Amino acid sequence: MSETVDAVVIGAGVVGLACAYELTKRLDTVVVIEREVGPGREISSRNSGVVHAGIYYPSDSLKTKLCIEGNRRLYEWCETHEVPHQHTGKLIVATSTEDEQRLRTIARHAKEVGAGELRLMTGREAMEQEPELRCALALHSPTSGVVDVHEFIASLVHEIKEADGMVVYHTEVDEIRKSANGWVVQTTDTTGSQMELHAQRIVNAAGLSALDVAAKSGLPATQRPWRLYPCKGSYFALGAGAPPTRNSLIYPLPAGGGLGVHITADISGARRAGPDAEFVDTIDYSVDESRVARFADAVARYLPAIRPEHLTPDYSGIRPKLVGPEGGFADFVIANPTSQPGVVHLIGIESPGLTAALAIGARVSDVMG
Ligand SMILES: Cc1cc2nc3c(=O)[nH]c(=O)nc-3n(C[C@H](O)[C@H](O)[C@H](O)COP(=O)(O)OP(=O)(O)OC[C@H]3O[C@@H](n4cnc5c(N)ncnc54)[C@H](O)[C@@H]3O)c2cc1C
Repeated sequence: MSETVDAVVIGAGVVGLACAYELTKRLDTVVVIEREVGPGREISSRNSGVVHAGIYYPSDSLKTKLCIEGNRRLYEWCETHEVPHQHTGKLIVATSTEDEQRLRTIARHAKEVGAGELRLMTGREAMEQEPELRCALALHSPTSGVVDVHEFIASLVHEIKEADGMVVYHTEVDEIRKSANGWVVQTTDTTGSQMELHAQRIVNAAGLSALDVAAKSGLPATQRPWRLYPCKGSYFALGAGAPPTRNSLIYPLPAGGGLGVHITADISGARRAGPDAEFVDTIDYSVDESRVARFADAVARYLPAIRPEHLTPDYSGIRPKLVGPEGGFADFVIANPTSQPGVVHLIGIESPGLTAALAIGARVSDVMG
């Protein structure tokens, strides 16, 4: 089977769907190809569901710009599409003198980049508000919040379909090759049936498989200098006996490639601790129960009454990180290679990719011209 469309988006995670939604505003036929049984089955449904403010990343980075813009767009989207969300605000807490200095630096930087309103609170003030908390200094970010990710994903799929776009599941992209007037995307579905989609525009939003898809598109190795380091983040649910917290989002300072083992309460109020950061070679989402002591220790630094017995294994997600355990900063990559006109590869879209998704979609649509 062969069809001609205006654009093909590979991957029905939040980022691919946001790109497809933006493209439907100016193109007639946009098709999203997804190998899983439904949308958002990989990174997009395995995260903290936090709407970030853009506090931590370098000033000129895409992460900062797209997170701040994405935060605004996401709240607006939630309002207009009736997606459950809460402007919960977030507390970042420093528990040592060294952390205090780091937190003051983070606060200064966040103000400079325009990451929403922010307020430094003394430890005493924070602990009055949050009696189980122990900290020396806290930073309150009122523009941080939580979103119902599944409802957000469902609303994106709905809008794409309303605009006559299509989201095709159970279908994997095998190969992308150049044709006389654009590109041919070859797919195979779970029944083994193959299809060729002819398109002028292609968005590779394949998350953890984005580098494989870039290779399948024939992008020369010299033009894909990136390497992905899958980094697993596990979550443990907080049981009813766990110390009570009033703030929905309580974060320590960033550590070890993640934002630190934080406490989140999702839209239903269910609390969990996580994610940690564990570099892995294989995609395995099971949560290792033996990590519970390490989790309890990490949380106990700011919530001393937590005990391992308050925590039960919940779920995990895997970040497509562009830097390994040695650390350092890596920005989102939105690559539009000159050798591949009409093609955009999205690489390393880890946190704050959920928050930034709608801004990434708008940026990709602009890049495609
Ligand atoms: C533990 C964790 C916590 C996080 N917390 C937050 C947070 O609180 N706030 C925030 O803003 N961000 C957070 N993030 C980041 C955010 O979840 C991601 O940036 C975002 O979900 C990435 O979406 P995506 O669409 O790029 O990837 P995905 O959701 O993985 O979508 C990619 C899709 O491509 C499909 N695919 C791959 N290859 C093919 C192929 N060949 N053919 C067809 N389909 C293919 C996959 O099946 C998948 O569905 C977190 C991430 C993790 C891992």
